[in-house]
Amino acid sequence: MAVRPILQIGDPRLRQKAKRVSRIDDSIQRLIDDLIDTMRAAQGVGLAATQVGVPLRIAVIELPPGEPEGPKPEVIVLINPQIVRTSGEELMDEACLSIPGFAGEIRRFRNVTVKALNRQGKEFRVKGTGLLAQALQHEIDHLDGVLYVDRAERVEKLEERAPSQQAHPPSQAASQ
Ligand code: ZN
Repeated sequence: MAVRPILQIGDPRLRQKAKRVSRIDDSIQRLIDDLIDTMRAAQGVGLAATQVGVPLRIAVIELPPGEPEGPKPEVIVLINPQIVRTSGEELMDEACLSIPGFAGEIRRFRNVTVKALNRQGKEFRVKGTGLLAQALQHEIDHLDGVLYVDRAERVEKLEERAPSQQAHPPSQAASQ
């Protein structure tokens, strides 16, 4: 297990469309472990394999403790994820580990259902609302080479602010 460097915007590898995983072997298991370690080290709520330069359709999500939308406080591993159902719309604050120092507002589906394989290769579905729905859409966008700034209605540079002043919504956007 290891923390890998997260690619930053401008790196052409972030724009690659990731390929489907055909076989979940030991190297894929190691990659998943590294994605989890890297996401936690960066205090993100999600991370896609494309963000560490691996063009495969794998992402991990872990909601902060106490998130009411979360099914359970545990990491969700998504292999070959696909959105199968959407409803509603919401303007959400969003940030990305590959675009540090910025946050934006983006229109996302409020509810999504995603079909994927887990790390044992078994198909499952995850239903998300709010932050989980947002993270699912954000990570699947990464696997298609899309960054939130491509679709955001507004993007702001975050100033260096004292922690007590960071209650302003855009600076609270969870990085993914
Ligand atoms: Zn991101």
